[in-house]
Amino acid sequence: MNRILIAEDEPRIASFIEKGLKSHGFTTMLATTAQDALRLALGGEFDLLLLDLGLPGKDGLEILEELRGQGEQVPIIILTARDEIHHKVAGFESGADDYMTKPFRFEELLARIRARLRQSTGGRSQDVLELLAGGVVLDLRSRKVRVGEREVELPAREFVLAETFFRHPGQVMSREQLLDRVWGYDYDPGSNIVDVYVGYLRKKLGSDLIETVRGMGYRLKA
Ligand code: CA
Repeated sequence: MNRILIAEDEPRIASFIEKGLKSHGFTTMLATTAQDALRLALGGEFDLLLLDLGLPGKDGLEILEELRGQGEQVPIIILTARDEIHHKVAGFESGADDYMTKPFRFEELLARIRARLRQSTGGRSQDVLELLAGGVVLDLRSRKVRVGEREVELPAREFVLAETFFRHPGQVMSREQLLDRVWGYDYDPGSNIVDVYVGYLRKKLGSDLIETVRGMGYRLKA
């Protein structure tokens, strides 16, 4: 299932896109303000972001820069009425993967979304087989971990947590984000399961690999 975050404040356009995507088997979520778009995109729950540049709260280009600045790699397609070439250039320079101008045909939007998703999943399965940080190698095929010369066994949940950190080096991950991504269910906000598992990883992979960022969460040393 592909999850698309639609950041769009114009109800008519948003519902047109949502209906179309749902009828093609996508799961969608709508953000109508810049703040919501940022929060949801950084939550890491989506395979692609459709971004209107004129959202209340903040300019779309700033949203893009903030997402990319925080290491968020979700594919982003800009969908905007700004159709001049310098707008497009600015969009790509801020980290967009594609740019579509309104008015648009749904078929073309769908084709572009599919092309982006193909690229990003293709990249994951064919190119990125190993993730590296601080002398630790995660082999995504065999799901084995090497620490220097040693091979370390990680139970499934610990491996997924490690992979989540390794896919976002240098980026602060909140406990909530980690719970969402690794455990993926509603949790007791008072739960310390993330802290416990980070402790396991530190013990097995090296005590200084994952830093605590006070009041915010954890970060893999870039
Ligand atoms: Ca708008």
